Amino acid sequence: MKINWTGFSKKTPAERLQILKEKGLLQDEHWQLLDSQQTLPLETANQMSENVLATLALPYSLVPDFLVDGKTYQVPFVTEEPSVVAAASFAAKIIKRSGGFETEVHKRQMIGQIALYQVDNADQAIKDVLRKKKELLEQANQAYPSIVARGGGARDLWLEQKDDFLIFYLSVDTQEAMGANMLNTILEALVSPIEALTGGESIMAILSNLATNSVVTARCVLSPRILDTRTTKGEDVIDRIVLASEFSKADPYRATTHNKGIMNGIDSIVIATGNDWRAIEAGAHVFASLSGQYQPLTSWTKDEAGNLVGTITLPLPVGTVGGSISIHPGAQFAHELLGHPSAIELAGIIASIGLAQNLAAVRALVTDGIQKGHMRLQAKSLGLAVGATEEELPLLMNLLAKAPHLNQETAKALLEELRK
Ligand code: NDP
Repeated sequence: MKINWTGFSKKTPAERLQILKEKGLLQDEHWQLLDSQQTLPLETANQMSENVLATLALPYSLVPDFLVDGKTYQVPFVTEEPSVVAAASFAAKIIKRSGGFETEVHKRQMIGQIALYQVDNADQAIKDVLRKKKELLEQANQAYPSIVARGGGARDLWLEQKDDFLIFYLSVDTQEAMGANMLNTILEALVSPIEALTGGESIMAILSNLATNSVVTARCVLSPRILDTRTTKGEDVIDRIVLASEFSKADPYRATTHNKGIMNGIDSIVIATGNDWRAIEAGAHVFASLSGQYQPLTSWTKDEAGNLVGTITLPLPVGTVGGSISIHPGAQFAHELLGHPSAIELAGIIASIGLAQNLAAVRALVTDGIQKGHMRLQAKSLGLAVGATEEELPLLMNLLAKAPHLNQETAKALLEELRK
């Protein structure tokens, strides 16, 4: 269904929820939870963690009409940082006009490891384990039969020697789950047979968050016309974005900030969908360093026709079941809003979000600079921080826009002035 989102950003949260309800994007049960600010009831929170006192709320927003592999998604974003949602929405709009994103999920498996020490003859141990590969994969599957019944299970194993350790690696198709607990259960079951085969002793058996068997690529192509700004021609914007991409490859100080901007979007949807954002963050940054120098996760080039071509590649071992996803009502709402994509589709959507977020940030940086947009949002935050009412806020923001320095003291003084 085609939805006209014009004016959505100007509405109140209640009006926005009403629109989602009218468009059939929100079932009554979730609408009631969101409308009553109950995305995480305290009783549920108390089951999720320990020593629970309360819950910490964050803004829960929507990025409309994200076109990925020919399908349009309404994307839930949980973030407290101003301008992230606006930037993603802007990029979604212009990339949609260019045909949207194409994604490729290279594989969807999780890797775990058993670290062995005191192995006398590592070469012989490797041969002995590989000779029993079929039996070991079967043993792995017997440790978690339900994943085999669901079409997944252990797919590969290999060994590597690093310093004093012989490391056994196992790759498992975890289907719709992220699979951390699944991997840990399977690996622990393999410790005894692996110790017996290698003569070594296990120091630990655990999932790895460097998910190189869950890597996703998203790609988009934009014509110069779409990138025209009021002051800069699209062709020049493209050249400057390509240069900015080269700069981020050359300098890790820039690459870090470049990737942080990408994670602004990725974390927002990962958190909304109840996935483990620490796992995604840890994996993404190490993946960015695999060449030996910390690199940007995206690349922007110009094709022969003069179009801007963007790609992003990173590991995204996200799930649609398991962990807190099935118990957190806010996370369930996120999956409902997205139309219940599979884990593979969700990874493609998340990679595309990262690419869109990066386009918005780099485009702003190489044209107007980001402060212009940020200053208005900072003025709003300052206004709220010093207690401006709904009526006072726009007036105070206009005064702050003309102030030489934006800080709480200035905001307070201007608000007092306004109230006189
Ligand atoms: P769970 O332990 O919740 O396991 C997934 C569950 O989903 C299983 O019980 C499985 O049921 C069920 N399930 C239902 N349908 C499917 C399906 N189609 N495909 C696969 N599973 C299905 O979660 P994970 O193993 O995914 O672990 C994720 C959690 O682990 C996260 O909360 C994460 O924070 C945490 N964690 C992360 C670590 C890390 O990143 N290093 C370490 C330890 C924990 P059934 O058993 O019947 O098959």
